[in-house]
Amino acid sequence: MTKLDSRIPEGPIAEKWTRHKNSINVVNPANKRLIDVIVVGTGLAGGSASASLAEMGYNVKAFCFQDSPRRAHSIAAQGGINAAKNYQNDGDSTYRLFYDTVKGGDYRSREANVYRLAEVSANIIDQCVAQGVPFARDYGGLLDNRSFGGVLVSRTFYAKGQTGQQLLLGAYSAMSRQIGKGKIKMYNRHEMLDVVKVDGKARGIIARDLVTGAIERHSAHAVVICSGGYGNVFFLSTNAMGSNVTAAWKIHKKGAYFANPCYTQIHPTCIPRSGDHQSKLTLMSESLRNDGRIWVPKKIEDVKAIREGKLKPTQLKEEDRDYYLERRYPAFGNLVPRDVASRAAKERCDEGFGVNNTGEAVYLDFASSFMRYGKEKAMVEGIENASPEKIRELGEGVIEAKYGNLFQMYEKIVDENPYKTPMMIYPAVHYTMGGVWVDYNLMTTIPGCYCLGEANFSDHGANRLGASALMQGLADGYFVLPYTIGDQLAHDIRTGPISTDLPEFIEAEKSVKDGLSKLINNKGTHSVDYFHKRLGKVMWDKVGMARDEKGLKEAIAEIQQIRTEFWADVRIPGGLNEMNPELEKAGRVADFLELGELFAKDALERNESCGGHFREESKTEDGEALRNDKDFAYVAAWEYTGEPKDAVLHKEELEFKDIELKQRSYK
Ligand SMILES: Cc1cc2nc3c(=O)[nH]c(=O)nc-3n(C[C@H](O)[C@H](O)[C@H](O)COP(=O)(O)OP(=O)(O)OC[C@H]3O[C@@H](n4cnc5c(N)ncnc54)[C@H](O)[C@@H]3O)c2cc1C
Repeated sequence: MTKLDSRIPEGPIAEKWTRHKNSINVVNPANKRLIDVIVVGTGLAGGSASASLAEMGYNVKAFCFQDSPRRAHSIAAQGGINAAKNYQNDGDSTYRLFYDTVKGGDYRSREANVYRLAEVSANIIDQCVAQGVPFARDYGGLLDNRSFGGVLVSRTFYAKGQTGQQLLLGAYSAMSRQIGKGKIKMYNRHEMLDVVKVDGKARGIIARDLVTGAIERHSAHAVVICSGGYGNVFFLSTNAMGSNVTAAWKIHKKGAYFANPCYTQIHPTCIPRSGDHQSKLTLMSESLRNDGRIWVPKKIEDVKAIREGKLKPTQLKEEDRDYYLERRYPAFGNLVPRDVASRAAKERCDEGFGVNNTGEAVYLDFASSFMRYGKEKAMVEGIENASPEKIRELGEGVIEAKYGNLFQMYEKIVDENPYKTPMMIYPAVHYTMGGVWVDYNLMTTIPGCYCLGEANFSDHGANRLGASALMQGLADGYFVLPYTIGDQLAHDIRTGPISTDLPEFIEAEKSVKDGLSKLINNKGTHSVDYFHKRLGKVMWDKVGMARDEKGLKEAIAEIQQIRTEFWADVRIPGGLNEMNPELEKAGRVADFLELGELFAKDALERNESCGGHFREESKTEDGEALRNDKDFAYVAAWEYTGEPKDAVLHKEELEFKDIELKQRSYK
């Protein structure tokens, strides 16, 4: 059994990272040329890692299943990226970002990692500005900031509503430089289907060329997994359609522990589901909560009139509106963290106050911001006695400049003009805090196998604060792994190239081929999506925003049943040795069907509420999440032993030396 050693350095928290860098092994520049590293995934985490490792001299082989690194899911990130720069002079600091992140994660993350994240956050902005990332700037030309949920300062850097896209272009241009120099060999349209271990160490991968169907062996001295999150286990989520758990799950099956699988973030501001035909949900960026106010009608008769189309939301008087977040959480108001905002929306909708036909929508209203900004603009432009209409028009212009693309996106999807009527929003699956367990060096429990970005479990505890995923992915790739990987690779300077003819490669390749043949020859009667949708429904209904023992036990049994049916009855058209998107999907759904069970098992085991994990059995009198630090202040790291039901739990006890454990309050 592998022992869990988080390898947290000794010393005061503010010195740990510096001391660690000073004391770990390094590989000299000439020797780096003798070492190969495989990076699976070229989103922000993998793109930044590949570029940095190649820049340092390692030979990098990078893989992604899209046709270009530029299409990684990271490109969808809208709102921004955090950094403790304190440009607003509002009291931000490394410590405050560290504190907010630990508190935001409901005290379920590792202090040392989070402090390091806060510490390197400022470097990320400098790095990206140097790459030419066009962050928004204020009137004086300095970088602008906005605020995200769960914090009392403005520390979010942004590029309109396209922050992920701009950051990814930055990372991609850094990669391209290395691709051009031959230091990165880029394998687009390749999917990793297994990791290869030799003498217990990760020494390569088996990948499928998604265009030809060919199965390939690739070797290296280390393997870095940056394959993103697994929110699509719910079928409907705001993730890109291709996001999946396969790479992470395959390493889990080969010995990497999977941590806190049940920690999932349900984002409060998504466009509500309109029916059963949908295969994707759309996020409206959290940045909108800076200026939008969330409400539902106070009276149930007004809800009915709105649903029947007899009353427009704009006709409802102020006193008839329930700005429930401002009412319940006066200190943070509309900017409470995501888990709190999501549960509050669910609570109102469960009580019957949902404002659309499915009863699952609340309003996000910009009317007061239009007027506030409009008045300011009229003053600035010297317009005296501006009419309310003029003020609103000016205000709409200001909002358009800030969030224009998001408003346009909303109008295209919902066919309603959000400048004229409040947006409707509802929570949706968005991000997974759980993931592959890693130590302080970001190494998994497989020596030589690392995991970065959303695919790992580190840093966000039970709930991620807005704009902190991009920060973590880029911290991992630009500033952490490039140092820590040397600690392991220093032992490989004399190893020489790893042969792909080793029996371990042959065996892994055979097992991948057998698995694919089994799928394609199944000749069942149902499509892959049929099973994925069924899994998603169980996950949402019984392992979603609120969970209880009975529902979780039912979910485990139902997922096992769906898995059995999947293997007996799935039908995949097309062949093995060709481009076959249904086959790709089938492999991913097969893994989701195993992960889903472990997810529910983890949620069942954690009989407390924390962050995004809400157990009905563990709440305060006023319905807030109730943590149980005495019994659950640990990371649950699961070891694969054959079937998800037999997974073995290992506990990494969490120590809080620099932050006092408190019941989280945003009131
Ligand atoms: C709509 C939306 C908006 C968001 N906005 C923000 C925001 O404003 N701020 C913020 O901080 N966070 C935001 N997030 C979260 C953030 O975007 C993600 O957490 C982050 O981009 C993940 O980056 P990553 O590099 O870990 O993974 P990804 O960007 O998902 O990249 C995964 C990579 O792995 C590759 N891959 C996966 N499996 C395999 C395999 N088996 N073989 C080969 N390649 C594989 C893919 O091809 C891809 O290159 C948002 C998320 C969503 C859904």
